[in-house]
This record gives sequence, structure tokens and C-alpha cells, in this order.
Amino acid sequence: RAKSEGRNVYRFFEPGMDAMVRARRALETDLEAALRRREFELDFQPIMNIASGEIVGAEALMRWHSPARGLVPPDDFIPVAEEIGLIVPLGEWALRKACTVAAGWPHGLRIAVNVSAVQIKSGTFARSVISALAFSGVPANRLELEITETVLMDESDTVLKTLRQLRDLGVRIALDDFGIGYSSLGYLRRFPVDKIKIDRSFIRDIDNRDTAAIVRTVIGLGAQLGTTVTAEGVETEAQLEFLRKEGCVEAQGYLIGIPSKAADIARLLESRAGIRQSG
Ligand code: C2E
Ligand code: MG
Ligand code: MG
Ligand code: MG
Repeated sequence: RAKSEGRNVYRFFEPGMDAMVRARRALETDLEAALRRREFELDFQPIMNIASGEIVGAEALMRWHSPARGLVPPDDFIPVAEEIGLIVPLGEWALRKACTVAAGWPHGLRIAVNVSAVQIKSGTFARSVISALAFSGVPANRLELEITETVLMDESDTVLKTLRQLRDLGVRIALDDFGIGYSSLGYLRRFPVDKIKIDRSFIRDIDNRDTAAIVRTVIGLGAQLGTTVTAEGVETEAQLEFLRKEGCVEAQGYLIGIPSKAADIARLLESRAGIRQSG
């Protein structure tokens, strides 16, 4: 079988490949135009401190409202945007937009922004973060950058240098989707992060004894390292109860709040923010 000769060979002879190539080109073309046409938007999902029940910030999540395709989920377009390099200007837009929105939130609330490895490798990333902070007036310690271990897998020192530079400014670094990668523990040694986000696949399966043991251990690991642990994808009271009992610091998920428009999240944050508004 062609399949056993390697992925490229297999794909090359697959019937319907023409159609696949054409569909992919069309997606790339639409994506390239989408930034210019302002088809992207950010939703914001609240993050809660479990012990106090207070909302401590929100994560910006990108949405593509394509006139032709409808609402395209980020998992379908971010990887393509990374491959064609569009993620650099797109990520820069997201950073600036997220900071601008967060500038209107009650003081002390954090804004979390997802960042792709391609952006950090570009070499211009630190500059665009500094510029987004200056433009919006958001203090560095209110910005949290969510990276995945693919960022830390990069061997070049551009990445570590950039992360260190940002951290020295006070920007916080969170390790997203923790636990599903290849060697998450190794990356924790290579770069000390401020936050670990336990991937939602673990929370979904928390009824399983072994999964519960893993989650408990990651929570303990965070405590030992002095790193905030956030559980992603919390959907039920039972999950939240487990996390509370185990001393997990933060929770994020549909139970606490779904990703919402900037105006709706601002209202929620004002009613549930732990930190009193000043002035
Ligand atoms: P992520 O950063 O791990 O974001 C969390 C994802 O889980 C979001 O999916 C969110 O809507 C979803 N989620 C939150 N709570 C729950 C829950 O209780 N149950 C379930 N089933 N899902 C929940 P979304 O918005 O589709 O984003 C998917 C991924 O796309 C993100 O995963 C992130 O890796 C990437 N992404 C999103 N926005 C950006 C961006 O601006 N830049 C980059 N580079 N990546 C982004
Ligand atoms: Mg994230
Ligand atoms: Mg995640
Ligand atoms: Mg993810």
C-alpha cells in the first residue's frame, strides 16, 4: 500500500487530492483577506479564583466570522495562519485588541492572550508586546501570555531570550494545555512559568481514579514550584468541588462562564471582580 511508503507518497496519489489542494488554497486566500476585512473578533472567557469565587481575569479567544464560511473555530484556522505566516500580524492584532479591551476593566484583572510559537520565533514579538502595553496603558503585570510546549521545544535562544525579556518586564507566562504534550516536565525545568493550565481533557475525565491522581499531582507540583495552577474546561459542580478540595488555585470553563463578547464580559467583570474599582 502506498500508505506504508510514507505520508507524502500516500497523500500524493490519493484521489481527490486536487480538490483538497484547491480547498486549502481557497482557505489560505480567504484568511489572507480576512484580516484586512476585519473579520476577526475576540471573545473573552472569565477565570475564577476557586477559594474566593472571584473572577480574576479573562482569556481572549479568537473568532473568525467569515461571510462565506460562517464562524470558523480557531483550531481550524490558527494552524493554517501559522503555516502561511499570517499568525504574526494576526497575533499582533489580537494582542493589541485584547489589551485595549482589558484597559477598560476594573484594576487588577488580568488579560490572557494565546501566543503561537511562530510569533515568538519571529524576533519582533517582544517589541509588539511592549507596543501593545504602551498603546493600551495596561501594566505589564496584568498581561499573561499563554504558550504551549511547542514554544519551549524550540532550541534557538531567540525564544528563551524573548520570554525572559518579557518576564523581566513583569509580563506573566502561562503554560497552556499542560499534560498532553511530550515532555511537559522537562519544559518546566527549561523555563520557569508563572502558571500551569491543566488541559481540559484531564478535567473531563476526572472521575477516573488515575486521571484524578494525575490532576492532584499537578496541583501539588504547582504548589511546590510556586506556580499558579488553573484547571481548564470545568463544566460541572462536581469537577469544581474536586479541584477546590485539592487546592487548585483557579478554574476556567463553561461552569464559570462561556467565552463572551467584550461588552458582556466587561459587565460580568464589574459585577464579580474581586478587586475593588479605584477612583
Ligand atoms: P486554549 O487556549 O486551550 O483555549 C481554551 C479552549 O477551550 C477554547 O476553545 C475555549 O472556548 C474552550 N473551552 C473553554 N471552557 C470550556 C469548557 O468548559 N468545555 C469545553 N468543551 N471547552 C471549553 P477555542 O476558543 O475553540 O480555542 C481553541 C484553541 O485555539 C485555544 O485553546 C488556543 O490554543 C487557540 N487560540 C484561540 N485564540 C487564539 C489566539 O488569539 N492566538 C493563538 N495563537 N491561538 C489561539
Ligand atoms: Mg489558552
Ligand atoms: Mg488550553
Ligand atoms: Mg489549546
